Amino acid sequence: MKNLLPGLRKFSEDVFPQLKPDFESLSQGQKPHTLLITCSDSRIDPNLVTQTQPGEIFVVRNAGNIIPPYGSSKGGEEAAIEFAVDGLRVTNLVICGHSHCGAMAALMGKVNLDGLPSVKSWLDHAQATRRRIDMLNKQKEIHLGDVTEENVLVQADNLKTHPAVSTALREQRIRIYGWVYQFEIGTISIFDPVNQKYIASAEVKDETSKDPSRFAL
Ligand SMILES: [Zn+2]
Repeated sequence: MKNLLPGLRKFSEDVFPQLKPDFESLSQGQKPHTLLITCSDSRIDPNLVTQTQPGEIFVVRNAGNIIPPYGSSKGGEEAAIEFAVDGLRVTNLVICGHSHCGAMAALMGKVNLDGLPSVKSWLDHAQATRRRIDMLNKQKEIHLGDVTEENVLVQADNLKTHPAVSTALREQRIRIYGWVYQFEIGTISIFDPVNQKYIASAEVKDETSKDPSRFAL
């Protein structure tokens, strides 16, 4: 607790008083515009990266930003997705992987998972990613970054198996995006489905104003 208590005090005494009106208004209800699915990794700070405020993004986090296909897991992901899409009516769904991801390294067999049986079984939900890596491996040498990028796309496919998501997609009230955050250089890359590659977010601003669905998966 000694790492945390000073922060708690600072928040209550110095930070919160300035934010009080915002939180009072948020106590009436939340209306986030985005469901962000990302890794539990301590180096990711969703609000910092997106420069959003409390109340703007609804976040699901787990090891490897994995979304098990609908009905295949008893975890909380299904409920959180359903609530975000049908309860809160978010309009953006973002899957965000990141550089130096331990879960992706484990998926490549580069991390010893002996003694971590729950991690091992959780990563089974990324079997499709592993299959894609094996396929790509026949064409070129695969690096951790490739696995991370592929996994985001695989999880986007899994996301679409959830009934709330597939219905909302049919009704054209949500869009799904794939991102990779490289925290060591402060860059977010966004998957471009037209050119089938990730591009730096700084390069996409003009294109999205012309066509908001341009980067939707
Ligand atoms: Zn990670």
